[in-house]
Amino acid sequence: MIEVLNKMNRFYCQPPKKIPINGNFDVIVVGGGPAGIIAAITSARRGCKTLLIEKNGFLGGTITASLVVNWIGAFTKEDFDLRRPSVELMQRILEKNSFFNLVIGKNQQISFSPEIFKDISLRMVEKAKVKLLLHTYAVDVIREKNNVKGVIIEGKSGRLAFLSRIVIDATGDGDIAFFSGVNFYSEPKSKRLPLTLIFRVGGVDTGYCKKIFYSYLDKNIDQKCKWKLNKFNIKKVSIFCPFQNGEVFVNMTKIKADALNLHDLTKACIKARKQIYKIHEFLKRYVPGFSKSYIIDTAPQIGVRETRRIKGLYTLNQRDIFKVRKDEDFIIPSGFFISKNNSVSQFYIPYRCLIPKNVDNLLVAGRCISTSHNAFLYTRNISTCMSLGEASSIAASICCKKNILPRNLDIDIFNKALNNSK
Ligand SMILES: Cc1cc2nc3c(=O)[nH]c(=O)nc-3n(C[C@H](O)[C@H](O)[C@H](O)COP(=O)(O)OP(=O)(O)OC[C@H]3O[C@@H](n4cnc5c(N)ncnc54)[C@H](O)[C@@H]3O)c2cc1C
Repeated sequence: MIEVLNKMNRFYCQPPKKIPINGNFDVIVVGGGPAGIIAAITSARRGCKTLLIEKNGFLGGTITASLVVNWIGAFTKEDFDLRRPSVELMQRILEKNSFFNLVIGKNQQISFSPEIFKDISLRMVEKAKVKLLLHTYAVDVIREKNNVKGVIIEGKSGRLAFLSRIVIDATGDGDIAFFSGVNFYSEPKSKRLPLTLIFRVGGVDTGYCKKIFYSYLDKNIDQKCKWKLNKFNIKKVSIFCPFQNGEVFVNMTKIKADALNLHDLTKACIKARKQIYKIHEFLKRYVPGFSKSYIIDTAPQIGVRETRRIKGLYTLNQRDIFKVRKDEDFIIPSGFFISKNNSVSQFYIPYRCLIPKNVDNLLVAGRCISTSHNAFLYTRNISTCMSLGEASSIAASICCKKNILPRNLDIDIFNKALNNSK
């Protein structure tokens, strides 16, 4: 044993090991959150043999694992085409259960049940004939020179390797890009958006809740309980309301932490768990509709808003968003509104934000694309992540067909394919 430890006993040097190659795909998508689900369905529907790898035992990512059951974004008339998997997914969820009726061009938020999201997304993935691996952690990549050639996973079957022509990193944290040696933007802990453990509360008079859905604390409440909530820097009552059986999801714990550091992440989970009881006590005492409420459960995972963003061929900045640039390759429509006059307005993201600078055969989709911190505040919402998932796999499928690298994809061909998908 001692010879595999280095002199200072600071490292353990693992002996080389043969890893079985378990499959060969056109496209591997890592991460079954909003970006990854849509990427995998789109890729398979476009005829690519597709593998979707997800570490949890269900799909949905932050939506279902962290109970962020609040789809922010809007569809314009041009976007609302049921051939698009994100539109089909939203439409099918709305048919089953949703608090809001969809008004095209107007809706900014839609709340729904996490179980319905899990069910419908899984059915769509199965129907598209995506090969799905759940409870499967991607732990490394196979890289030859600058090219990513596949992914190494770990699970109950041990370590396995999968080969592919293109890999799409939809892990939220940019894990695959990290294993591949891509450079990142990462804010210091103090500047990152906080982590939140969402919890579900029952016995709520939801008639009152409708009025306070995502409202800032009114002065009255603020005065009475300053002592309690200021400690957590909470300024608003933030609730997602699927409104079934008096249940709501409370989005109010806040912890500053580095979610990429296991020790920090563990501390954050412990702190958040302590906060929820104080917050619930506050809701019961001061917020109308909560007096007889009780905590049902907490999200399986603490919600992580911000970690790594890749350094891509272009870095989207806030000016690009506010100017609504649609020149050059600014072609991927976001699903977000800019709330000037409270009107729905899309902005566009360049394809180059999905391509890492120094690694080939890898595309990135979801919250870890190449943006500045301020631009990230607009790109991280669920519908934009879905849009990015769709765009990444349209690009991947063309690259597979033409046998070219993502960075060499002709932008006019990509644009045409993107528009034809609507
Ligand atoms: C508390 C909170 C509140 C929010 N509120 C809203 C809101 O109201 N509306 C809104 O639109 N957005 C909201 N967001 C933002 C939004 O939820 C996320 O930005 C979005 O879900 C990111 O999508 P994604 O697909 O990029 O990543 P994720 O949703 O994080 O999905 C990534 C998936 O990859 C999997 N994964 C990660 N690493 C690996 C690995 N190594 N191997 C295998 N699988 C892996 C994860 O398990 C996960 O399923 C909120 C976020 C948080 C945390």
